[in-house]
Amino acid sequence: MSMPEERGLLLPWIEALPPYVPGRPAEASSGLVPVKLSSNENPYAPLPSVIEAAVAALQAVNRYPDPQAAELVQGLATLCGVAPENVAVGPGSVALLQQLAQVTSSVGDEVLFAWRSFEAYPLVTVLNGATPVTVPLTDHEEHDLDEMARRISERTSLILLCTPNNPTGTALAAAAFHRFMESVPTNVLVVIDEAYAEFVRGSHFIDGLREWRAYPNVAVLRTFSKAYGLAGLRLGYVIGHQDLINSLRRSTVPFTVPSITQAAAIESLRQRQQLLARVESIVEERTRVLEALADLGLNVEPSQANFVWIRLGARHQAFLDACHEAALAVRPYGDEGVRITIGEPQENNRFLGVVADFMADPQST
Ligand SMILES: *Cc1c(COP(=O)(O)O)cnc(C)c1O
Repeated sequence: MSMPEERGLLLPWIEALPPYVPGRPAEASSGLVPVKLSSNENPYAPLPSVIEAAVAALQAVNRYPDPQAAELVQGLATLCGVAPENVAVGPGSVALLQQLAQVTSSVGDEVLFAWRSFEAYPLVTVLNGATPVTVPLTDHEEHDLDEMARRISERTSLILLCTPNNPTGTALAAAAFHRFMESVPTNVLVVIDEAYAEFVRGSHFIDGLREWRAYPNVAVLRTFSKAYGLAGLRLGYVIGHQDLINSLRRSTVPFTVPSITQAAAIESLRQRQQLLARVESIVEERTRVLEALADLGLNVEPSQANFVWIRLGARHQAFLDACHEAALAVRPYGDEGVRITIGEPQENNRFLGVVADFMADPQST
């Protein structure tokens, strides 16, 4: 008779998690001010009125925040043209992603997503004991929805679609999504992760807020970390059908969204036009950067987000060294490619300068 294996202190899938590897920060070198283009942050400081709202909320942090975040949820409902019952908020969209996995997926279930895509996807899958099923991107760095449809199985519990895709910047076409959804059983939750929705330009791309109503099993995930520039305050939201939203509300620990965050976000919604004007200038910079990269001879897919993705093959490490030398923090993915966030114009010029020197230097090829 074989003895059952002895129970360890930690769950086996937690023990198996890869160690966290922090990114290499930009270092001041040769008198250059370090530039950070590695985390897809908004380069602009919060608006003065947003800071004022946050500071005012700080005066009352001896009290718990509103557990329902009622005013914020109402503001988001108005923004998205939905009822408050269709909105859930959480401390960053990654926390909501974890919750979405938690309410749908467990041991024996499969979570399906493209790869490369957002690095949190394998993590939230494995944290729930579920199994990641990944489908490589196409040659044009896009989701391969046909192959993803083929990989749906009876064990599939959750599908994560990242559009625009982090780290490649490619966005899903609405028509392709509609076709894909014909293959998805209604007991599989499809999450459209639109962290970069505000940066998308082009009417044929998917807009989750237009899509979710037509499908009982679709939810949309958005964030205040990118377009709204509140990454440090941690706020994300889900738009979805009432049953799913209820499940998120029931399964969360209380008081996850701090009062300071709620206040800053409510004020940000009031100042939305100003914030969207900043987004527009980042989009203009994106166009300029993409054109400059093409002029420099790099073959880069058009990005719909606030970053660009470049593959340099054998020259990958040499390029990272050149960025480091120029006190420029970028985000490498293994030896596959590099993601560079669009920053303010002079920051982008630092990046373009590195690329220009790099492409002109035969030693680097
Ligand atoms: C940045 C990002 C998020 C946002 O995460 P927060 O937790 O809201 O800061 C979510 N999804 C993707 C794909 C992202 O790139």
